[in-house]
Amino acid sequence: MPRIVVIGGVAAGMSAASQAKRRDTNAEVIALERGNDVSYGACGMPYNIADDGRDMHDLVVITPEQFRHTRGIDVRVRHEVMAIDAHAQTLRVRDHAAATDYELTYDKLVIATGAVALRPALPGIDLPGVFVLRELTDGAAIKFTLEQTNAHRVLIAGGGYIGMEMAETLRARGLAVTLVERAPQVVPGFEPVIAAVVRETLQRQGVQLLTGVGIEAIEQEGAGLRVRAGGQTLAADMVLLAMGVHPNVALAQSAGVHLGATGAIAVDDHQRTNLPNVYAAGDCAEAYHRVLQQPVFIPLGTTANKQGKVAGANAAGADERFKGIVGTAAFKVFDLEVARTGVGAAEIERHGLKVISAVSHHSSRGHHYPGAARLTTVLFAERGSGRLLGAQMVGADVVAKRMDVLATALHAGMTLADIEALDLSYAPPVAPVYDPVLIAASVARKALGKAG
Ligand code: FAD
Repeated sequence: MPRIVVIGGVAAGMSAASQAKRRDTNAEVIALERGNDVSYGACGMPYNIADDGRDMHDLVVITPEQFRHTRGIDVRVRHEVMAIDAHAQTLRVRDHAAATDYELTYDKLVIATGAVALRPALPGIDLPGVFVLRELTDGAAIKFTLEQTNAHRVLIAGGGYIGMEMAETLRARGLAVTLVERAPQVVPGFEPVIAAVVRETLQRQGVQLLTGVGIEAIEQEGAGLRVRAGGQTLAADMVLLAMGVHPNVALAQSAGVHLGATGAIAVDDHQRTNLPNVYAAGDCAEAYHRVLQQPVFIPLGTTANKQGKVAGANAAGADERFKGIVGTAAFKVFDLEVARTGVGAAEIERHGLKVISAVSHHSSRGHHYPGAARLTTVLFAERGSGRLLGAQMVGADVVAKRMDVLATALHAGMTLADIEALDLSYAPPVAPVYDPVLIAASVARKALGKAG
């Protein structure tokens, strides 16, 4: 009976373990997780924190006991893999509950160790009251502090999607929120025209914004904290660091697993690493970007689940391929949906792509239909061919699902002319007769024509 061992018990790890067992019911599948929880939806944490009535563990989809009894998977929580010997195909595992180490052999190994929230080495970064939001325990600690102390001022460092989601959550809980972003604008991965809409909403909702400055130090002041940023001193009861993540690869690297140029684990389209019988998936691994035609590090739950499934299937003897990503992501901030797919300005500059870009504005529903909102779209297309390379959209009504149309167009390698000809649905309550996707393609085609 082959033994398949998975390291990491969240999106990629439990997808891999479940798929491996499904593909080979005779296999012994063991999942090792150093934390207390497996199979939870980290993405739901901001909404859970907003809701006093819900326990953080509501986000657990399947418990270790359920995995054991209904899926036949041996899930071991608080078991941390300390070392991998790829030659002997053994792991050294620390059982934190029993405070002992043991050796475990494997036939196939899936590394799904995820990513770690960035905590820059700044004075005061480890003070009590300074949080990150990555694991369920982080979410529980933030919620506990909100419920059990009279914290009423929070400073969020980082204006990416987690910073945005938490700004909304904390305002909903009645806190005064200051958001500090080092880049000149919030949501740095988006075009200025999109960021301006987000900024206006944040300000309207009472979020105090400070862009173009980074936090430099945190100090204790009585029961609260003082944050120094760009020559200012900001008072807060809590600080949330939402500054991004880095792939958790030290264990893999010390076993001889190769990293790619992004710093995440290099994998092929079968999720194989360079080591025999060792696969990797999720936020610790790179993903092939179909537009850029090279590996990237874009850590998202959607990719982690899919890569985990492929890694688990292949570890159980299948021949599955992960066909890559196009960089699609969406989030909500107050009443806005914000989404993107494909390349943006940073990738265009880094890769020296020759593009045209076009901004368009449109109504989300039929003329005068109640609930219609103004949407703003930016499209990027290749000069000459007109092939779509990227898209971004913001607005208060049906944005992410429109972005999915454009993501599909990217998968298919469609041009602006192809997109403009799509047969998209129309009825006043759901879309105008020319859907915003069609209008955006038409506006971009005109820009393409002018660019020659
Ligand atoms: P992780 O979730 O990081 O899990 C890795 C696990 O491995 C961890 O539990 C860790 O303890 C364990 N581990 C590490 N080393 C060892 C070891 N040596 N031994 C044993 N166990 C180990 N993605 C989206 O697509 N859409 C969203 O809306 C979205 N929202 C998000 C909101 C928040 C607040 C956060 C934090 C993330 C969000 N994400 C979202 C990202 C998504 O949650 C991650 O991409 C996903 O969790 C990655 O799964 P993973 O299994 O690769 O890694």
